[in-house]
Amino acid sequence: MTEGADRQTDFLKKFSSGPGRKQQMVSVIIPAYNERENIENTAKVIGNILKNYGTEYELLFVDDGSKDDTWDIISRLSENDGSVRGLKFSRNFGKEGAIFAGLRKCTGECAVVIDCDLQHPPELIPKMLELHRQGAEIVEAVKADRGKESLFYKLFAKTFYRIMERSSSVDLDRASDFKLMDRKVIDALNEMPERITFFRALSSWVGFRTEKIEFEVAPRNAGQSKWNFRKLVRFAVDNITSFTNFPMQLVTGMGVIFLIFALILGIQSLVRFFSGTAQEGFTTVYLIVLLAASMIMIGLGIIGYYMSKIYEEIKFRPRYIISVDTKDRKEQDTDNGSNV
Ligand code: UDP
Ligand code: MG
Repeated sequence: MTEGADRQTDFLKKFSSGPGRKQQMVSVIIPAYNERENIENTAKVIGNILKNYGTEYELLFVDDGSKDDTWDIISRLSENDGSVRGLKFSRNFGKEGAIFAGLRKCTGECAVVIDCDLQHPPELIPKMLELHRQGAEIVEAVKADRGKESLFYKLFAKTFYRIMERSSSVDLDRASDFKLMDRKVIDALNEMPERITFFRALSSWVGFRTEKIEFEVAPRNAGQSKWNFRKLVRFAVDNITSFTNFPMQLVTGMGVIFLIFALILGIQSLVRFFSGTAQEGFTTVYLIVLLAASMIMIGLGIIGYYMSKIYEEIKFRPRYIISVDTKDRKEQDTDNGSNV
């Protein structure tokens, strides 16, 4: 760093941070899965914004087991740029795992989670930092609208969020993973013992002083969205079941309705039988047996799903496995250097 820049940092330390607050070092956590076209540009754009804002920062790329050369790019970048750090997963563990790995490894006094494709506008980061400086412990960026999504996707997302909201009282419809969190929040999240996580909901669940800012979802910078229908359904079911017992209650509810139905039908049949107008044939019987069987099966399926969740949690497997951390590599290099 030049002397001028040093002085500038000193100045900022003294005057722009609030009373009793240290100059904040910001960690930017960027999950990346097959994002070869985006890494360099994203690092440059976010780096420039933070440099201009005049804060210390680290860009923490988490390579979620990409199949292309994403890791090579991150690795090269981290060698040339001291503020870039990379974590490489041993395989694809999903974005949630990537975010939580980033939260555990980041060293900043606050951290911002942002997508690699710049769909979350990085120009908002200074505004988020400003709010943090004014005392906000979480700054959530909420979508002003949901961007360009197909009608089907919109409907799917709406239903999912409705169920989540009803049962966990967390408003998720416009929420995104684009968030700033204070060290306190990061530590609280790191203490969560569960394996199956839903970052968006958990980060609301922990509470803390939260500010919201709106943003417009930008179109993807390059490459393709990593979601497909199967992944999306899995994601929704996973999160609903790890946050609410609503589906289980639904089964009980259906059971009660069926019981009432069966009672009415039973009385009616008895009345008919005694009045001598009993129906011939078994149509009704078949129908009821079929319906009841399907209800039972759905119920068992849902219970089975929760049981499998318990099983997953009880295994205490890690949420992700890191195979390379560029920071360790650098430390190793310097170790070797000093030994020679
Ligand atoms: N991502 C990830 N692991 C995955 C899928 C996605 O780390 O298995 C990352 C991806 O690289 C991007 C972010 O999560 O930075 C959001 O993914 P994407 O843009 O595909 O989702 P969308 O914006 O369409 O919701
Ligand atoms: Mg995207």
